[in-house]
Amino acid sequence: ATPAATMVGTTIGAQNGVLFKGGDVLERAKDVDTVVFDKTGTLTEGEMELTDVVAFDGGGEPVADGGEPTADGGQLTSRERRSEDDVLRLAAIAESGSGHPLARAIVEGAEERGLAVSEPDAFENVPGHGVKATVSVSGSAGGSSDESDGGSEILVGNRKLFRDNDIDPSPATETLERLENEGKTAMLVGIDGELAGVVADADTVKESARDAVSQLRARGVDVMMLTGDNERTARAVAEQVGIDPEFVRAEVLPEDKSDAVEAIQADGRKAMMVGDGVNDAPALAVAHVGTAIGSGTDVAIEAADVTLMRDDPLDVVKTIRISDATLQKIK
Ligand code: ADP
Ligand code: MG
Repeated sequence: ATPAATMVGTTIGAQNGVLFKGGDVLERAKDVDTVVFDKTGTLTEGEMELTDVVAFDGGGEPVADGGEPTADGGQLTSRERRSEDDVLRLAAIAESGSGHPLARAIVEGAEERGLAVSEPDAFENVPGHGVKATVSVSGSAGGSSDESDGGSEILVGNRKLFRDNDIDPSPATETLERLENEGKTAMLVGIDGELAGVVADADTVKESARDAVSQLRARGVDVMMLTGDNERTARAVAEQVGIDPEFVRAEVLPEDKSDAVEAIQADGRKAMMVGDGVNDAPALAVAHVGTAIGSGTDVAIEAADVTLMRDDPLDVVKTIRISDATLQKIK
């Protein structure tokens, strides 16, 4: 492109809240044949809300009445049956040390139900999997008195976290799959080595996400989704926005996101990666075009070639269109 065309394109971009980091970026964007969206905070609002709490009895069955201790039997035999509020309160205490959107929703949900969320004694973040905490339980929440010695070990996270900690997640399968098919992120709650329940958070798909996907596809651009979330939840969200199941890359660990983009580009595809989080920065850097969306973190914006000032997935279409138009004029 001539310097004049580049300047026009850059200016039109800026007027539309699309900031190109340089003339070469403006030129590259027209060649994008694949757009890879991060899920959380990019296709969705990224504002999680607690939607479900399930307390298990010893056999991993949801407690039917959700609350009162019922007849005994199974793993939790030595303890009083925990209620949904107990499960939620312990999960919230464990999560209070984590800044993760999933964690914040659990803490807020517990507080909205009037539960006292204290600080854990010890806390460990397991990136991409969940949290591990030691909680000294005063009062009713922990159940029996044998937990006064040094507190309870609370685990909140995905199946992998539980397997890695020698807790079999399989009794929760039915509950997890039901929630995940609704597009929710379901998390297991473990107390002292036992499966105690499930909590679920849900996020809302951005209003324009579906339009953005269909407009990109109408231009012949393949649309993919990349997420650390599990396959089932990812597919449910993909379906809501019109992304084909075979274009969903789920359960991708934060440190593997850039590898995933490189794999997508391995056959010569030119991918635009669109993301907002700290996790996304390396993936933005390796993509043909890295695009940071909305109130993206500084790290993401720094790694990106394009910054979208608004939080609107339709501006991804605009980015490609501006690049196209600018370079066509001078051909
Ligand atoms: P995303 O790519 O959607 O931002 P992450 O890579 O941060 O997701 O996390 C992947 C998965 O690990 C989550 O879907 C969840 O199951 C689990 N996880 C991560 N952090 C937490 C947490 N603080 N509490 C419970 N589960 C978590
Ligand atoms: Mg994210």
